[in-house]
Amino acid sequence: MKKILWFAVILICAALCVGTFGYGEGLEIGSRAHAASLPFSKSEEIELPIVMYHSVLKSKKGKYTIHPDELERDIVRYIEMGYTPVTLRAVADWVGGDEGGAGVTGVGGGADLPEKPMVITFDDGHYNNLYYALPILKKHGCPAVVNVVTSFSRFSSETAGEAHNPNYSSLTWDDIRELHDSGLVEIGNHTHAMHKFKPRYGIAQVSGETVDAYRQAIKTDLETANRYLVDSARVPCPITFAYPFGKYTREGREVLQELGFRAILTCNEGVSKIRRGDPNSLLELKRYNRSGNEGHERFMKRVFG
Ligand SMILES: [Zn+2]
Repeated sequence: MKKILWFAVILICAALCVGTFGYGEGLEIGSRAHAASLPFSKSEEIELPIVMYHSVLKSKKGKYTIHPDELERDIVRYIEMGYTPVTLRAVADWVGGDEGGAGVTGVGGGADLPEKPMVITFDDGHYNNLYYALPILKKHGCPAVVNVVTSFSRFSSETAGEAHNPNYSSLTWDDIRELHDSGLVEIGNHTHAMHKFKPRYGIAQVSGETVDAYRQAIKTDLETANRYLVDSARVPCPITFAYPFGKYTREGREVLQELGFRAILTCNEGVSKIRRGDPNSLLELKRYNRSGNEGHERFMKRVFG
């Protein structure tokens, strides 16, 4: 009887998985077929909380700025709760199935993930991520993902007097390399020059722009960012992308997939469900913004209950 019940639960789960992919574009077809033919056991689907930080500063706090002591308090708490921070590369390796190109669903990938994985991200590429956050990450052996806006990094790298001030500098190419060399930090792409509200809001389509021109504009920008990260910062070509201001579009996502991005971060709040063998489960990852205004206890209660 128990076995029959368990089988019924698996069938219902499989049906729900199929129902979840509601977009209807071609790229989801693989996961529909996969979900229908191979019900996911409990260990094949995990919940992945992702927290989004930005600036880390002692001198001020705000929606996108947190005190280093608060960051450390958060990290200690995550670990106390049994979470193990991991990079999105590790998550993508576990999910697997995308080596053949966009939307190809295959059998789950490489290394195992810890029982309760989570991901810590820092957006925009602030120099204070190296100055304040990296020592904390090192102290606790805590991996993280830093999503860099390469036009900001180029400015700090090439403009006299603009580097290495925690209050306003962006990471230089050497700083990015240093983060990578720590062995704890994965570098992600946060666009080259699309972290703006005008004339284009993030990666959004501009009014009057043809779809072809729009796709080409995103492609050129993201390839430029990748090229700077590989050639100037000398880090591996990113597989992670974070949408500026969380603005995303279907065309944008298709371009991201064509360029080989495997983990795509939104600013929609919530916990994502990740499935082994289903690379599409990494294409619209949710994140909780850790505002410096919210306070440690309130944030923990809101996100982790
Ligand atoms: Zn940003």
